[in-house]
Amino acid sequence: MKQASDSSRALRRHHSCRLKKARRLYWGMGTGVENVPDDRRLGIVISTAALCSCHMCGNPRRYWKTKDALTVQEQRLFQDLLQDIEGKSQPS
Ligand SMILES: [Zn+2]
Repeated sequence: MKQASDSSRALRRHHSCRLKKARRLYWGMGTGVENVPDDRRLGIVISTAALCSCHMCGNPRRYWKTKDALTVQEQRLFQDLLQDIEGKSQPS
């Protein structure tokens, strides 16, 4: 049991170190002398990568309660499906 907790601690430390390295330029950090990545902000960014969840950045179904509120990924999917359908219906 002790070995399992040691390895999970090591795994947690590995992932936090990995995320600190990967996200060191998030939130405008590292872009200038006044935005040097500090330990406090790097610690926050490993658990909350998104800087905000406003109506423009957040989930559209949360803020725009209509059936047409689709994510960009869903819009692309339906656009591709529509193009496939239209491409197949046209005689070639
Ligand atoms: Zn936003």
